[in-house]
Amino acid sequence: MSRFLIILACFPCAFLAACGGGGSNGSSPVCGPTFRTPNYNTETDPGSSRQNRILTWPSFPVNYSIRNQVTLLQGASSSSDLVRQAAQAWIASTNGRMRLTEIPSNRSAEISVGFAQVAQQPGAGDTLGFTSVTFDPDTLTLFEATITVNVWPGMSEAQVRQGLLSTIQHEFGHALFLNGHSEDSGDLMFFQASPSLLKPITTRDLNSLETAYCGDFNGRATRVRPKNLVTVTINCRVPSEFKWTKA
Ligand SMILES: [Zn+2]
Repeated sequence: MSRFLIILACFPCAFLAACGGGGSNGSSPVCGPTFRTPNYNTETDPGSSRQNRILTWPSFPVNYSIRNQVTLLQGASSSSDLVRQAAQAWIASTNGRMRLTEIPSNRSAEISVGFAQVAQQPGAGDTLGFTSVTFDPDTLTLFEATITVNVWPGMSEAQVRQGLLSTIQHEFGHALFLNGHSEDSGDLMFFQASPSLLKPITTRDLNSLETAYCGDFNGRATRVRPKNLVTVTINCRVPSEFKWTKA
């Protein structure tokens, strides 16, 4: 009888380990998906039709590096400064509790941010940026993230200071916690964005980040390279019905 009970008691643990806690609240086992509401942690990504999956870093600060630079607005605006602004926006949203640290580009960073030149300004359905996240599928713990944002010749001031900044902020959201997108077009983490409009971090964006980490941005686990890693790339696009209203 006692052996039978032990088997029963252990079954749920074995099941959770096997499926990696891959349910709706991902790696938020302590507080669950309603820690801060409203949030989009259990919503369905309108771009992929898959349920959002929450991935988390095991401890903070998380470091990032800027792997290349591009000339924007005839040098008036540094691409590196935009990356720092984007990181700072997420830090500020948590009142500095979540720490992100820039390290030199020649060192291996947990989050790498880079720019890719494309031939022309993106139109309807084109990619603005993408982020590859590498994580342990059993624990949904992030191991590294690579952000790439597209730039193109003749970018306008609005495209740089608003659109590009928003794209970098959006990609940081993927690198920090979200494999998926918001269903609400008002959120920074909505699956589509204009190439020239500024999108702030909304209450739902912040609630979702807070819920992913149960409000705890300190260390929780020792960093070791997991034996089993998978990489997923999240693409972020201009709306399919998008039309430029002026050059
Ligand atoms: Zn995205």
